[in-house]
Amino acid sequence: MRIDVVSIFPEYLAPLELSLIGKARQDGLLKLTVHDLRDFTTDRHRTVDDTPYGGGAGMVMKPEPWAQALGAVAGTAAAGEGELRKPVLIVPSPAGERFTQAIAHELAEEEQLVFACGRYEGIDERVLEWAADHFTVRPMSLGDYVLNGGEVAVLAMVEAIGRLLPGVVGNPESLVEESHSDGLLEYPVYTKPSSWRGRDVPAVLLSGNHGKIAQWRRHEQYRRTAERRPDLLEAFDAGTLPRADRTAFADLGYDIEDGRLRRRADA
Ligand code: SAM
Repeated sequence: MRIDVVSIFPEYLAPLELSLIGKARQDGLLKLTVHDLRDFTTDRHRTVDDTPYGGGAGMVMKPEPWAQALGAVAGTAAAGEGELRKPVLIVPSPAGERFTQAIAHELAEEEQLVFACGRYEGIDERVLEWAADHFTVRPMSLGDYVLNGGEVAVLAMVEAIGRLLPGVVGNPESLVEESHSDGLLEYPVYTKPSSWRGRDVPAVLLSGNHGKIAQWRRHEQYRRTAERRPDLLEAFDAGTLPRADRTAFADLGYDIEDGRLRRRADA
């Protein structure tokens, strides 16, 4: 995969040289280049922002440096059968679509991703309209809060996407049993010693009974998700659950109707 990041603070992206993503770059699994937006300006002061039309606080990023930068990094990848596939332009924005694990999986299939890091009040809206001729444009939010710039959002998204690329994470099994991989939160995990400061590891994990361990872990996923993220259970397919799992949900206060979980009014 090829990733291009455009930012006025290229040094903000230095952590992408570390750990698994840094190693993936060294190993040639990921070709990641960070570009300085100011290199695409033409004035002496390397200006990237100006006052907003209509008034109001803050500054807005000027369109021309963005068009120059994005034009320089836009490639087209063959999608097979002579068809050309546009690269995906991800524009971090609190007003974007919420970035999720499912979207990370989708984006991990792409040939080229370009990230446009906004600053100030954001990028002139016409850049996104213009870019749609050259890219599949996806404004993307990390969550319902406001950051100072897109760089932190890019660090998070590149890490989430990059670790899904083949060969990046040593044991691909660890990607399967993770929070959000099956629409639920992960079960709690423990390591040695088995007894620590008066707290024991749940006995089932020491039993050697793999069936019982798998069932305990699934039920812990249900309990944790019901407690912390009940919204995730609305989309959970409970239609084919074994009886013990149905009982686990009943104990948590959920009925199953037409394969969907419904929280009981008295729960
Ligand atoms: N005025 C903008 C608004 O209210 O939508 C916020 C601009 S914010 C101060 C500057 C930049 O930070 C944005 O252009 C975007 O690149 C980034 N940013 C802020 N919050 C974000 C979030 N929740 N997710 C992704 N990017 C974010």
